[in-house]
Amino acid sequence: MRANDDLRGELLALVSALKSHVAAETDSCIPVSRLRLKGTGPSRQEGLTARDAAEAHPGTAAAGRRGASGLDGVRRELGDCARCPLHRSRKHLVFGEGSARARLVFVGEAPGEEEDRQGRPFVGRAGQLLTKIINAMGLEREEVYICNILKCRPPGNRNPQEDEIAACEPFLVKQIEAIDPEIICALGTFAAKTLLRTEAPISAIRGRFHDYHGRRLMPTYHPAYLLRNPDAKKLVWEDVQKIMKIL
Ligand code: URA
Repeated sequence: MRANDDLRGELLALVSALKSHVAAETDSCIPVSRLRLKGTGPSRQEGLTARDAAEAHPGTAAAGRRGASGLDGVRRELGDCARCPLHRSRKHLVFGEGSARARLVFVGEAPGEEEDRQGRPFVGRAGQLLTKIINAMGLEREEVYICNILKCRPPGNRNPQEDEIAACEPFLVKQIEAIDPEIICALGTFAAKTLLRTEAPISAIRGRFHDYHGRRLMPTYHPAYLLRNPDAKKLVWEDVQKIMKIL
């Protein structure tokens, strides 16, 4: 009788632990269909990411569209872009930079003055702070990929407009597909709202993972906001630690 009670107790504890595990995985955006029990090994199809497929089959379409060659293809397609009026005032188009195989992609709003001058993303004051955040995560800029919703600077750093986003965002989507990262970090209200198609303020959506076409997306405050509100740095640190935990 006592042995039966013990067994029942153990089973109840196991069920409860399993329930919490499933709830935690669901919260972190992993589809339950991809859950695997330890020791059972990856399911050949279900567990494969596009990255795995490209690595397993170099030379196939899956491989060709990814990594550096995929990214070069997107750059070529973009060309000397004149799809929206911003091309008239830009000095340089800012495509993005970093590893074509990055596991983490940062997406900001649009190039500022310094970025427009150099043709590189996040190289002004906000960019220097982003570099510090990346370094504090134990990473180098070259190990991640950094880009923006818009590739050309809006005059006077005004907010991006609908037609500019509509012209530019498809190329960001293709860049993300080529890089095939595990995590996207949306920097600031504008990037988060655009990628997640939400009107919710960044304060309401930051700090937890959202689903972005099957990838994890972490919204956090923009480094430019941190320059004006240094108290928010600790919140960004909390957010990036959640990313580090997965990477
Ligand atoms: N702010 C952004 O959103 N992007 C940059 O590249 C620089 C500043």
